[in-house]
Amino acid sequence: MNPITTDTPERADLRAAVAALGKGHGGDINELWKEAGKLGYLGINLPEEYGGGGGGIAELSIVLEELGAAGCPLLLLVVSPAICGTVISRFGTEEQKRRWLPGLADGSVRMAFGITEPDAGSNSHRITTTARRDGDDWVLTGRKVFITGVDTADATLIVGRTEDARTGKLKPCLFIVPRETPGFAYHHIPMELDSDERQFELVLDDVRLPADALVGDEDAGLLQLFAGLNPERIMTAAFALGMGRFALAKAVDYARTRQVWKEPIGAHQAIAHPLAQAHIELELARLMTAKAAYLYDGGDDAAAGEAANMAKYAAAEAAVKAVDQSVHTLGGNGLSAEYGLARLITASRVARIAPVSREMILNFISHQTLGLPKSY
Ligand SMILES: Cc1cc2nc3c(=O)[nH]c(=O)nc-3n(C[C@H](O)[C@H](O)[C@H](O)COP(=O)(O)OP(=O)(O)OC[C@H]3O[C@@H](n4cnc5c(N)ncnc54)[C@H](O)[C@@H]3O)c2cc1C
Repeated sequence: MNPITTDTPERADLRAAVAALGKGHGGDINELWKEAGKLGYLGINLPEEYGGGGGGIAELSIVLEELGAAGCPLLLLVVSPAICGTVISRFGTEEQKRRWLPGLADGSVRMAFGITEPDAGSNSHRITTTARRDGDDWVLTGRKVFITGVDTADATLIVGRTEDARTGKLKPCLFIVPRETPGFAYHHIPMELDSDERQFELVLDDVRLPADALVGDEDAGLLQLFAGLNPERIMTAAFALGMGRFALAKAVDYARTRQVWKEPIGAHQAIAHPLAQAHIELELARLMTAKAAYLYDGGDDAAAGEAANMAKYAAAEAAVKAVDQSVHTLGGNGLSAEYGLARLITASRVARIAPVSREMILNFISHQTLGLPKSY
């Protein structure tokens, strides 16, 4: 059940090579991360002059989708090369690029990304993590929640606001905070997710940072932030698509061979049709994801924003449905640890909630695309 491909020959080769890596991997995600880094997959979107592959989000999303389809997605790919790598390559100083990008590209350096706050949630305009100038330094104070991979990340890219822009519309500014900086504390948040990539609460208590911790311009605002958030949405779509394909492939295999009457269960249309629907919906979402990546890599941030939101929405919904139907197809085995599908019920919901929830995407499309009035 190979997906329909519109890949160039180079991308088809990349897809096949990453799929082979995923299938051959032994279960340790740190080993997989290292191996993928050595092979140049983690920084495939980053500029060649800083050790990257010179490709785009199209290539990086192929890497994540194929690892997911092999059952071993690396969630930190959404963050480290896609958000942090993109923001630093587009807005960092020459010195910041030289310091961070080669490590992000070969995977020897990881960077987490922190925007979500307990009292702001989906309303990023309410974030209160504040940066105050003190001589040449910045002093950062605030709290973040659900930040992925902080324990394994060398640094976290923190979204804050400057003291003079404390209220009103968000004028975000981005700071690289190395993990061991005094005042930076992180605590594991127990989640019902069966994943080695864990979530953390961050407390920033007067974290003193040098002037060059600020990435980009403190006045460039949302433009800079969205340069990183569009890749994040496209990568979350790829994460969902890989997971949906993984689950569906297991269910189809099972439905072909499991026999409790005179034909395999896959002959019953009550089993076959929902699987066919799930496949069609995953394929449609793949098309939208490829379109969003194409627009983003072509430099059209505005069109990419709309397409990336639609792709994330479509892929998450398709994955949730594919996982649900796959679990059901296996009957009791769908809930067994041996078949490993039930754990995806929670995992697939991540794509519906993060990095921006289904409802916030519907709000965005209602307001921005359809021009409907806002309720909030
Ligand atoms: C596994 C996981 C990993 C994550 N990793 C990261 C990370 O690395 N970095 C990071 O910064 N964040 C991360 N997050 C946080 C994630 O981005 C947020 O959970 C998400 O943005 C939703 O915010 P919230 O949880 O505060 O929900 P809320 O904003 O409280 O929303 C709760 C519900 O209300 C709905 N809602 C809210 N406002 C509206 C409205 N105006 N109209 C209609 N419905 C509305 C939402 O759709 C949602 O269903 C992660 C989350 C998870 C679960």
